[in-house]
Amino acid sequence: MAASITAGLQMLVTRRSTSSSRMMLPSTVISDTKVTIQTKLSSSFSISFAKPFRQSFSSAPRRDNNVVTRAMSEENDKNSVSGLPIDLRGKRAFIAGVADDNGYGWAIAKALAAAGAEILIGTWVPALNIFETSLRRGKFDDSRRLPNGSLLEIAKVYPLDAVFDSLEDVPDYIKSNKRYSGSSNWTVTEVAESIKNDFGSIDILVHSLANGPEVTKPLLETSRKGYLAALSASSYSFISLLQHFLPIINPGGATISITYVASERIIPGYGGGMSSAKAALESDTRVLAFEAGRKKQIRVNAISAGPLGSRAAKAIGFIEKMIEYSYVNAPLQKELSADEVGAVAAFLVSPLASAITGSVVYVDNGLNTMGLACDSPSLSV
Ligand code: NAD
Repeated sequence: MAASITAGLQMLVTRRSTSSSRMMLPSTVISDTKVTIQTKLSSSFSISFAKPFRQSFSSAPRRDNNVVTRAMSEENDKNSVSGLPIDLRGKRAFIAGVADDNGYGWAIAKALAAAGAEILIGTWVPALNIFETSLRRGKFDDSRRLPNGSLLEIAKVYPLDAVFDSLEDVPDYIKSNKRYSGSSNWTVTEVAESIKNDFGSIDILVHSLANGPEVTKPLLETSRKGYLAALSASSYSFISLLQHFLPIINPGGATISITYVASERIIPGYGGGMSSAKAALESDTRVLAFEAGRKKQIRVNAISAGPLGSRAAKAIGFIEKMIEYSYVNAPLQKELSADEVGAVAAFLVSPLASAITGSVVYVDNGLNTMGLACDSPSLSV
């Protein structure tokens, strides 16, 4: 038995190893045979250090947006007979922060719809016109496709600016701004009121929005105004949404927000107080989980997502490099798809996750676990 395990391990190791050992692992003991596999196993780690980045990037599997969709579709087929389905039929979700079909909010909307939820969207007022026009003209029809072949249906799109709690907070220069003047009832309290009038209640609240006007500035050069604006748009906006939506969220409901590892590790370039805003968002996730849990059995979780080339991320300026960095250095060498975040969001808001609250769940190909950059030039000598 021990011999066959050893042979299996050695076959695995032989296939992977190409160069000598760099990292030492403790010896492995199988039954009474001491097997000296540490050198061979550790050499399998050095393979990814040594591989030139471009070569590994082009030869390894690329992003396949349809993987999750296909998996969900196959899952749906299986679920008609048996299995462990994510079932959100009869639930209604409000997803704040969707203005195109590239970001995490859109992918979450699709995943929740695929699981059977009714979808309401909150779109930032300045982006509303172009989003609604694109929807109407069929620009998103390809990406609206769900696993069962139907198109994602959005029951209603609400204009929203999550920086303002009520009309009294809105300054005159915003009221008179022509990008806002065509819309009404877009402050957080007004949107909650409109949804109450239109639908009565919701079960799921998703916060997939962020904004930091000075995100490209180092923290050391960030103004007070820029810092507070980042916190207002990216963290307090979640508190405000949960606070004002609480009366219309059914008991047992669930919320999700999207955070980033810059909250706990230094990511140079993610500036303007955005790292602080994500740290606040994660801390608030825990405190709000307690408060909303005790009040209405509402679960509050966050997903710490890996890099995605969304519109917001492109505004920061170095997202393509972050995607490449993740590809080379994460345990899973594949590009992250927004659908993978959508699928985890669907799980977290579903009854399958009924005991999970106050958690930050990483969906980043494991990048957060790394303590060493595999592609560092220091490792190549
Ligand atoms: P995105 O551009 O699709 O989403 C951001 C949305 O926020 C946009 O629709 C924008 O219109 C909206 N928004 C901005 N200010 C607003 C306001 N005041 N009121 C209402 N809406 C407002 O980009 P995304 O990257 O999918 O971002 C979604 C969430 O994911 C954000 O919280 C972001 O920080 C987070 N995230 C993104 C990445 C990434 O690499 N893209 C990584 C980790 C976390």
